[in-house]
Amino acid sequence: MEELKPKSLNFLEEIVQEGIASGKYPQGILTRFPPEPNGYLHIGHAKSICLNFGLAQRFGGGTNLRFDDTNPVTEETEYVESIKKDVSWLGFTWANELYTSDYFEDLYQFAEKLITLSFAYVDDSTAAEIAAQKGTPTTPGTHSPFRNRSVEENLTLFRDMRAGKYADGEKVLRAKIDMAHPNMHMRDPLMYRIRHVKHHRSGDKWCIYPMYDFAHGQSDSIEEITHSICTLEFDVHRPLYDWFLDKLGIFPSHQYEFARLNLSHTVMSKRKLLQLVNEKVVNGWDDPRMPTISGLRRRGFTPASIRNFCERIGVAKRDNLIDLSLLEFCIREDLNKSADRVMAVLDPIKLVITNYPADKTEDLQIENNPEAELITKRSVPFSNELYIERDDFMIDPPKKFFRLGVGLQVRLKGAYIVTCTDFKTDAEGNVTEVHAEYIPESKSGQDTSGVSVKGTIHWVSVAHAVEAEVRNFDRLLIVEDASELGDDFLKFINPESLQIVPKVYVEPGLKEAKEGQALQFIRKGYYSLDADSTSDKLVFNRTVTLKDTWAKEKAK
Ligand code: ATP
Ligand code: MG
Repeated sequence: MEELKPKSLNFLEEIVQEGIASGKYPQGILTRFPPEPNGYLHIGHAKSICLNFGLAQRFGGGTNLRFDDTNPVTEETEYVESIKKDVSWLGFTWANELYTSDYFEDLYQFAEKLITLSFAYVDDSTAAEIAAQKGTPTTPGTHSPFRNRSVEENLTLFRDMRAGKYADGEKVLRAKIDMAHPNMHMRDPLMYRIRHVKHHRSGDKWCIYPMYDFAHGQSDSIEEITHSICTLEFDVHRPLYDWFLDKLGIFPSHQYEFARLNLSHTVMSKRKLLQLVNEKVVNGWDDPRMPTISGLRRRGFTPASIRNFCERIGVAKRDNLIDLSLLEFCIREDLNKSADRVMAVLDPIKLVITNYPADKTEDLQIENNPEAELITKRSVPFSNELYIERDDFMIDPPKKFFRLGVGLQVRLKGAYIVTCTDFKTDAEGNVTEVHAEYIPESKSGQDTSGVSVKGTIHWVSVAHAVEAEVRNFDRLLIVEDASELGDDFLKFINPESLQIVPKVYVEPGLKEAKEGQALQFIRKGYYSLDADSTSDKLVFNRTVTLKDTWAKEKAK
């Protein structure tokens, strides 16, 4: 795997480097990637993964994969498995696979300790009462009537909460900090709530569950994480993160915040992605239109292209919106080097070469990829009847049309130069067949004809062609920035985000293509074989067009 080496250090790399220079991390650094297993990972998570794993790789140390599974209601094992698959696929190896739920006993003991130190109390107030007690950012809050319970009473009540004596919502555990604190998160925040729900790992063992703020920092501390990196919205939680670790006197992990990735023409929160899946706007989490890692993989993106994208967008302290075309640029750049060029006719019309023997087939040797370090060739059958693209022929070609029209000449890719002689139409005047004569001396690689032509077109031999379906994708949303739309984003789905071309013809060698294999359909785009393919019917996903057609669209 290529090393992640930016030109200059980003602000987090600077922080780590300074810490290392001052001798803070003799054992190396330890970061973590802490997904909540309530959905599939998306490209935003990829940024966090590249950042966390990248820091440890660059500066020495490791990265834990920690499932932040404190909410029993939304989490599922299916998600855990998909997350592991995606992180590995991106090319990273975690130091330890861990689960916040494995710390439930430690966290419980931490809570008892804070009760003993008079830093926590059991509150019988309802959710609405607690919300009212919080005050507003400009007015101080008020004390709960239960705030001054004794340590003994709190301990008994908290143990009874654990033992299942109370119903959901009947009681909570709160930190006792400061109801007039300018930071609302410090106004006696919740630590535990009651939820009589089965957990995907701990089963029925617990009926009280820690809140994010009480679980995250302590989990970092238990693992001795040196750099706990999260997105900007958590900066207001940092004083609470520090407060818990300080009052408990445990390993001082530190939280740092960076700007999350926002990508144009899509949504990125797992909740919204789940909506798209549940409402069948897309065909599952791995639909190639989804910004999920599994969707991008299915679409034909490579791990290197995603890592490269994350490297290019950099790490900043201010939110911004990245245009989807940058992601597409990265995959194009990668596939240009790695994808074999093959021929597929997406909108076919028949070309008959009238002076080529009808019973003859030639196996032409055609280069796979002129950009590759090692040039290889494949065999492609050529015969007197070929499919070519309908728009490579014109009845009335304009002056600079360097393809086919009666009297015009063109090179058939890897084969011969042909001269168009004639064409046939149906009753409505639609062209049904084009006729041409080939120049026998003009064979590619051994051309002695002396004829030069400006255009080259692709083709597939009719007798050997293999039928396939092509799925072309476009932006999922017609709006650039969906961040302010809330659930209204569903009104802005691009009706043309999926276009299926049910019957195209590809060269016969593609029967051997492997699932996920990247290919360039010459002049048409980069495609990859989809998992829906069967031995009777190949299905190809368009990963990306050859050029950025969207930029042109926008400029119109
Ligand atoms: P979502 O809102 O999409 O559900 P989340 O933040 O709730 O995202 P988590 O599973 O909690 O998802 O996130 C795991 C890690 O990935 C966190 O550290 C989080 O900050 C980071 N992360 C999530 N979304 C992004 C994003 N768009 N850009 C960068 N990092 C992200
Ligand atoms: Mg979350």
